[in-house]
Amino acid sequence: MPLLVTEAIVLHAFDYLESSRIIRLLTREAGIQSALARGARKSRARYGSALDLFAEGSAQLYVKPSRELHNLAGFEIDRSRAELAEEVGRFTAASTIAELALRFAGEEGSPQLYDTVSDVLDRISRAAPEDTIGIGLAGCWRIVAVVGFAPELSSCAVCHTPLRDTEDATFSHAAGGTVCPTCARLARGGRKIPASARAAMTRWLSGDDSVSLAEAEGRSHQRLLREFLDAHMPDDRPLRAFAVWEHERWSAA
Ligand SMILES: [Zn+2]
Repeated sequence: MPLLVTEAIVLHAFDYLESSRIIRLLTREAGIQSALARGARKSRARYGSALDLFAEGSAQLYVKPSRELHNLAGFEIDRSRAELAEEVGRFTAASTIAELALRFAGEEGSPQLYDTVSDVLDRISRAAPEDTIGIGLAGCWRIVAVVGFAPELSSCAVCHTPLRDTEDATFSHAAGGTVCPTCARLARGGRKIPASARAAMTRWLSGDDSVSLAEAEGRSHQRLLREFLDAHMPDDRPLRAFAVWEHERWSAA
């Protein structure tokens, strides 16, 4: 069996049988890959915290051609990101990032997507509890941009008429961005968004996550993003981690 050595981030992990663990990895070289870590639960010494959620390091996989589950030969951990499990807002935001990466990444390596996911998880792990929504939103929009779905925000997505920065606009998921008043009358399912929301999204798409949000704004942005993802996801499966992220904070408050 060929050995693949690649940087990897653990995006999903669960126990398997009595002694093993199955992990789903975002790898730099080969996109999403699943691996069986035999004996991982019996011998903590072998992997330590390397197989915990959001850990990143160098994975060695024995690749079984035409099989979906490979064998993990080793995992040298660089960072555990234990901070993500210490605060519920961080954990739910990071879980949403993992969900988007699992859903959007194929089995081809994308260094740009890999680096984006890694950087976003680092930023969330450093976020103050009140900033996790904004930093999570920024990360989700960056991933959307990297996989090629960035919405049009500076002009009409239909007729390309430029929009003024100070203008409230209609966001149409079907059109893939903001639309001018004329096209808004023809577009279905559009949602009015204030100029400030458009400005925030523009900054997030460019990698700037230093936008401070009031609670109600955060909620509106999460709803807009969820609707956008529903319209652009490659399949119809519900976004479970996103739903937890969206509702956890408000029900806990
Ligand atoms: Zn238009």
